[in-house]
Amino acid sequence: MSRLSCVLTIALSVTALAACSPAKQAGPNAAPSAGEINLYTARHYDADLQLYAAFTKATGIKVNRLEMQPDQLIERTKAEGEASPADVILMADAGALWRAEAAGLFQPLTTPTLAARIPVALRDPKGQWWGFSRRARVIAYDKAAVKPEEVAHYDQIAGPRFKGKVCVRSSDNVYNLSLMAALIEHWGEAKALNWAKGVVANMARAPQGGDIDQIRAVEAGACQVALTNTYYYLRLAASPDAADKAAAARVGLSFPEQDGVGTHVNISGGGLAAHAPNKAAAIKFLEFLASDEAQAILAGANHEYPAVEGLPSPPDVAAYSKFKSDPMAVSIYGQRQAQAQGVYDQAGWR
Ligand code: FE
Repeated sequence: MSRLSCVLTIALSVTALAACSPAKQAGPNAAPSAGEINLYTARHYDADLQLYAAFTKATGIKVNRLEMQPDQLIERTKAEGEASPADVILMADAGALWRAEAAGLFQPLTTPTLAARIPVALRDPKGQWWGFSRRARVIAYDKAAVKPEEVAHYDQIAGPRFKGKVCVRSSDNVYNLSLMAALIEHWGEAKALNWAKGVVANMARAPQGGDIDQIRAVEAGACQVALTNTYYYLRLAASPDAADKAAAARVGLSFPEQDGVGTHVNISGGGLAAHAPNKAAAIKFLEFLASDEAQAILAGANHEYPAVEGLPSPPDVAAYSKFKSDPMAVSIYGQRQAQAQGVYDQAGWR
């Protein structure tokens, strides 16, 4: 079954998942193969195929990949229990990693390589998961209508200047939940709630679509400002498609809070699955993700920022890398996730 049809099958039917399962049989008597890992991933980026190919080339270890939505991944792995064939679990966003951790999907792991390479703020304090790339959640704005100083702070998009001019995605999106968690941590719940109410009052339309859709809406004039993760914008800017390039040309990116705490930064990352049958190979894979080679692929192919400090990025990513980022530990985003959803609900942000 091809990867695409496998992903489609997963989307259509949980009962059909057996057809997509990694070839190795799981179970107490199954002999683990040293030559492969079973990867459950909620990252949704085609660029990741380059990562897996590079790992296999470097180690000879085959990667059997299952791509799922985060909640689907968590439910499936929980249901598999001790018989789960998963060796490594990858998620986009620290909030999603925290959900997976809370569901018991990981086992703690610390290695000298991981500890030396991955900054403390970008990993779980107990070693359940590690951040392998960074992304900022920034304000995309219509350069023809908005001055950069009007979007220098997150709270400005909640003010009267942008009445009817804001596009956002839904509040249950984990990127938005993590941003709210950070705002609560900095501002306290009362101010964060006022911000959410202000954004709701300013919405140009009901929350809809993904981050790319928000950028396109700004380009189309449906709104003047929107929230997006950086790599989506950089992907449009690097696209060979003229319409994508045109969207990126009309839309600017503001990195808020440069005169204060710094812009909200999140991670994508992963950890060792709780019942990993191919543990040694899985650890090699996780360490590979922290290598110079993998970090370069994450930056080059998916326009994310390296998690490892001091590594170069390709010019198009580097051009948007010179900003002050909020040093907050990303584990906070998980700890405050339920509170964040409560604040959005109270504000009426669907
Ligand atoms: Fe994403």
